[in-house]
Amino acid sequence: MSKASDSRAKRNWVSLVPYGIHQQHPNAYKDILSTMWENRDNLGYAWRILRDGCCDGCSLGTRGVYDWTMQGVHLCAVRLQLLRLNTMPPADWRVLEDVTPFRGKAEKSLRKLGRLAVPMIRHKGDKGFRRISWDEAIATVAQQLRNIDPHRLAWYLTSRGLTNEAYYAHQKVARFIGTNHVDTSARICHAPSTAGLSATVGCAATTCSYSDWIGADLIVFVGANVANNQPVTTKYLYYAKKAGTKIFVVNPYREPGLERYWVPSVTESALFGTRLADDYFQIHIGGDIPFFYGVIKHLIRNGWVDREFINGRTVGWNELQAKVDALSWESLEQGSGLSRDDMFRFAETFGKARHAIVVWSMGITQHRYGSDNVRAIVNLQLCKGNIGRDHTGLMPIRGHSGVQGGAEMGGMPGAYVMGFPVTEENARKFAAPEIWNFEPPSWKGLSAAHMILAAERGEIDALWQSGGNFKQTLPEPGLVARALGRIKLRIHQDIVVNPTMLVDPADTVVLLPSRTRYEQRGGGTETSTERRIIYSPEIPGPRIPEAKDEWEIPVLVAQSINPSLGAKLFPWNDTQDIRNEIDRVCPTYKGIAKLRKKGDSIQYGGRHLLVDRCLTPDGKAHFTPIGLPEEKIPDGRFLLATRRGKQFNSIINAEVDPLTGARRDDILVSAEDARRLGLGNGDQIILRNELGEFRGRVRIDRVKPGSLQAHWPEINVLIPAGRLDPSGVPDYNTTVEIVAASAAQPTAMAARAEG
Ligand code: SF4
Repeated sequence: MSKASDSRAKRNWVSLVPYGIHQQHPNAYKDILSTMWENRDNLGYAWRILRDGCCDGCSLGTRGVYDWTMQGVHLCAVRLQLLRLNTMPPADWRVLEDVTPFRGKAEKSLRKLGRLAVPMIRHKGDKGFRRISWDEAIATVAQQLRNIDPHRLAWYLTSRGLTNEAYYAHQKVARFIGTNHVDTSARICHAPSTAGLSATVGCAATTCSYSDWIGADLIVFVGANVANNQPVTTKYLYYAKKAGTKIFVVNPYREPGLERYWVPSVTESALFGTRLADDYFQIHIGGDIPFFYGVIKHLIRNGWVDREFINGRTVGWNELQAKVDALSWESLEQGSGLSRDDMFRFAETFGKARHAIVVWSMGITQHRYGSDNVRAIVNLQLCKGNIGRDHTGLMPIRGHSGVQGGAEMGGMPGAYVMGFPVTEENARKFAAPEIWNFEPPSWKGLSAAHMILAAERGEIDALWQSGGNFKQTLPEPGLVARALGRIKLRIHQDIVVNPTMLVDPADTVVLLPSRTRYEQRGGGTETSTERRIIYSPEIPGPRIPEAKDEWEIPVLVAQSINPSLGAKLFPWNDTQDIRNEIDRVCPTYKGIAKLRKKGDSIQYGGRHLLVDRCLTPDGKAHFTPIGLPEEKIPDGRFLLATRRGKQFNSIINAEVDPLTGARRDDILVSAEDARRLGLGNGDQIILRNELGEFRGRVRIDRVKPGSLQAHWPEINVLIPAGRLDPSGVPDYNTTVEIVAASAAQPTAMAARAEG
């Protein structure tokens, strides 16, 4: 180690207390021991999954316990906790013959029943499910789907654990049956990134690689808590800090995990911890657009923009500049919650940086103006020409492992595959014999949130869900349960039982047991955030005897609906056959057919996209003079944001967030607001708005005054269902009043009015 990097490393230490044992943070060593204990009946298989599989957790992607970004081990608590889903034995299916004892149970406790073991069916009025054969299950589903108007048929695919092959098969079958109501959980996370990026730079994917982080002058995290959702990024950031990279965070809450971390597999960091964020910009919830406009104002005034790039590679600069000129500092300060000096502090470092990467996630996208938030980030990066070069880029970091591939394989209501929009012209192209040999529908389908709203209106007759747990994940759980209860046929294809399956049938509910990605014949691929298509082999080990491959189940239904066409259009025996077809049909995925063994991968587009030109029709990057969002917060109310905590597909629900120490029912309140309201740590309070009430406990923490944070999905009872970004993503923020829980006649604590 050179002297410079040695002293830089020491400056980044958190404390001399080994492993920060006096501080709140995850305990990786304890997680390893508890994983071993949990998987003790199947340790060999668990180890083979870790050693040879591509992680089914988040979107970083692995080859076994290594990756393509750094030397050394790539492993985290999320992956360890997910292991049991893959190794646990089958559930005793007889317990589902009466679902009464399971009503109201959370997903976590239902999961403990074990793997879904056999196909089952439940009709209206039945107290539970009845075991059926696969033949009966397929025939029942096929017969009903044959008679349903495809406009009233919806299809939803989870983003955790599924493979590209499964997404491709499902959406192709859905379109063969005649519906474009196909969606994945990308629709409740990154659809605004797809919309914002496609409109401005012409591609929906991350433009750089993880390896660009290490050595960048600056990385900016906006509304992304990577320590929680993509834990191994903290190791990347450790190496980035050693290489001199500065880290800025723009967020309404000072996330402890972004401030410091103890990377367990790096001795120095495990011993002394690593300080991550160099500066923190604590904006209002939804203050991103005014904040970045303020930064751009400073960039322009100080000549910190890249004129050559702007003149040569962009359009819309004059309109953007006119917009910036017309915005007063007062409006930007009020909207962002920060001063013009704060914006200058950001602008100076950003403006002088040779390269910068902006990484964002659901803090940006899950607003009714999420697509505009993304455009604001693009505006910022274009000012400095931060695309297409080493250590620069736009990175909408994905959560689940299937978000990127699910959308690219056509799990979208408005695109067939690889973003080919649903249009009559494209439908005809897909009808060509060398592509699909049947014409898919050309009407635009519904997003997941819209499917549920349509079901509530009685406009959906059948819903196929592969994974997913709408009842817990979408806003307004009461409305969701009502909507699900109106769908005549619900098909739940899954590996475990979840609460959504137990909603009483309007007519028929069918459960179909699926195999995990490690059990599929021929393995499978996933696409990571950095556009890397990664092969994960089939792992030898125990199997659930009656579970079927994820991709195979919809294909069997298609072949039952129309035997001759079904056999011709879906002639697949294993996932290799599907990869061969994807290779032929999706030019961007060319080469996927050659991925056959552990560690095989291709990064489509190479390390950087947009090197010489953008993928817009004119080849230029487009500035967008977006308007400032209007957040009206009624007097006496607070703006409430939702926290994901340690959750993937609402599967991991630690009672205490290991990064923050917050319990599930804790409501994060700023010290300033708590003082004004006379609240102390642990006080019981009720949050109330037009939808209902949520009872929780005060946790005084470093949130922006005037705002609150509470945990999703519990807080979904207060989130309105119909408030959506144009891309279909729900706005997971709302306004609430605080009511003293102890008062006999609760009265609103009008903080803002007093303030
Ligand atoms: S960081 Fe993500 S990809 Fe890596 S091991 Fe953890 S969950 Fe898996």
